Amino acid sequence: NTVNQKELFGHPIGLYILFFTEMWERFSYYGMRALLVLYMTTQTIGDERGPGLGWSSKEALALYGWYTMLVYVMSIPGGMIADKVLGQKKSVLLGAIILCIGHGVLVLTDPWAFYTGLALVILGVGLLKPNISTMVGGLYKEGDIRRDKGFSIFYIGINTGSLLATLVIGGVVAKWGWHAGFGLAGIAMVFGLLVYIWGQKYLIHVGNLQPQTKEENSVSYGLLFEKLFKSQKQLVIAIFLSIVSLIGWYKLGWGYGLLFLFLTIITSLLMMVYKDLNNQIQKDRFLVLLLSFIMVIIFWGAFEQAGGLMNLYTDTKTDRILFGLEIPTVMFQSLNAGFIILLATAIAGYWANRKLKGKEGSSLFKMAVGIIVMGFGFIFMVFAAMQFEKSGTSSMMWLVLAYLFHTIGELCISPVALSFITKLSPAKYASLMMGVYFAATGLGNKVAGIVGESASDFGEYSVFLSIFIFTLIIGTLFILLLKPLQRLTHGAEDNEK
Ligand code: GLN
Repeated sequence: NTVNQKELFGHPIGLYILFFTEMWERFSYYGMRALLVLYMTTQTIGDERGPGLGWSSKEALALYGWYTMLVYVMSIPGGMIADKVLGQKKSVLLGAIILCIGHGVLVLTDPWAFYTGLALVILGVGLLKPNISTMVGGLYKEGDIRRDKGFSIFYIGINTGSLLATLVIGGVVAKWGWHAGFGLAGIAMVFGLLVYIWGQKYLIHVGNLQPQTKEENSVSYGLLFEKLFKSQKQLVIAIFLSIVSLIGWYKLGWGYGLLFLFLTIITSLLMMVYKDLNNQIQKDRFLVLLLSFIMVIIFWGAFEQAGGLMNLYTDTKTDRILFGLEIPTVMFQSLNAGFIILLATAIAGYWANRKLKGKEGSSLFKMAVGIIVMGFGFIFMVFAAMQFEKSGTSSMMWLVLAYLFHTIGELCISPVALSFITKLSPAKYASLMMGVYFAATGLGNKVAGIVGESASDFGEYSVFLSIFIFTLIIGTLFILLLKPLQRLTHGAEDNEK
């Protein structure tokens, strides 16, 4: 990918187009997500915001868990379509259009509209989210030290969208009802679409389909699966995983069964992609990416307690009175996005400086540090739980501190991982790898739900403490393994300037 010359504030103008497109997309995603559980659990009659679905909170949380996971898991097919058929740029366009329709359908009150709308949003995000992220990487040449910073700026866009949405959508729903809230998400997405279409002139060189005529660029997923049946070792692994999936289906129900089968297909695909890569450098880099995704799953598995367990903790066990006024629980959900906007540039700057001084500043290192810092945030939740056990309430300072550390950790891992993927992926599978990354975050979300639920058996204190210890161990482990992992990247980040 060549770089578009036009720049603004030291970055290609295309970055700002992607920034605002993604800002509006995240506005619609997080705005709608904020309403989802509440809408499902509201009674079917007698609520001034209009009828909800009247579900139990268990039913609602179950659908919520599957929804938030699927949204990200669909990034894998979304990435595959980009690599094989559309290229990233057109995939984003198609995703944005589907999202406008999906959020639009949710404005209708019929039951069919609810499921259809959700399904369209899942498809739309799957097409848009991974591919717009890969495009950010495409704006920078190999070895350009601005790439990490570019991703941090992009990440501010993400969180500005999420912050604005969570601040305004509650008010809109209170005044005009649920479906006006869904409509607002739709309007936001239309803005995103318009910005994207308008900005095409700044994106001429990014996100285009690699010319498939060249042998090294051609992608055939069908052929890869065909090869699977000829490769005995891989086939044995695939069959073994399929059996595990079927047992999972039998023991845990069809949802998990389907998930395991899906994971089996993806694992088989990744094994075959690995075999298909041209040389050892590509293969090693592919491997180190997959290993780093272990950190990603664990990170989000802990981090995503925010919307679940920590949210409930805020609601029921925290003293939220400040200067005589009660702070609503939902407000605490804005802390993360707010801290990101405040800290993103500073943290990216800190790492860039460190690197220029010749100190360790590799992505893998940052990601491991990110896990540890985020995990450290849970120590404050342990203190909160201790205080609650003693006095029957706990200070909201603990939550603020926990979210602060969670955010610093997130900034060390999340934008960094996006950038890292664009540095290490083989060009022809670049979108697929971004899709796998987002699927890993989706699995992390699901893990978070399962861990959060376990609090009703073990109590918050033990859950928070266990997360702290576990993340500390994993982060330290990756730091200890840094040298050999680093070797697998074959100097992908050595000459950044
Ligand atoms: N909050 C970030 C976003 O919406 C990260 C989400 C994720 O990686 N799963 O982009």
